[in-house]
Amino acid sequence: MSEYHDFYVARLAERSTVPTLLCGHCQSILSPKRIFANEGENRYDLPCNTIGLCSADDCGAVNCCDDAMKGAEQQRCENRVAV
Ligand SMILES: [Zn+2]
Repeated sequence: MSEYHDFYVARLAERSTVPTLLCGHCQSILSPKRIFANEGENRYDLPCNTIGLCSADDCGAVNCCDDAMKGAEQQRCENRVAV
């Protein structure tokens, strides 16, 4: 049994100039400092490669950032084309 069976899926903020990830629980912005690869000693037992911890008071949700990161990559590419 995992302590972290309860997790949320981070969302990508729309229409932001810089790709921004939002907590899937409370919608606050996930600080880039709290987004990290899910590997090594700090590995969470979750089926995702990138984890984002929400720093909002009363939330502290564990977010899976895989989809949002993929979206962020796409957004970056699109921005590059637009420039
Ligand atoms: Zn949150």
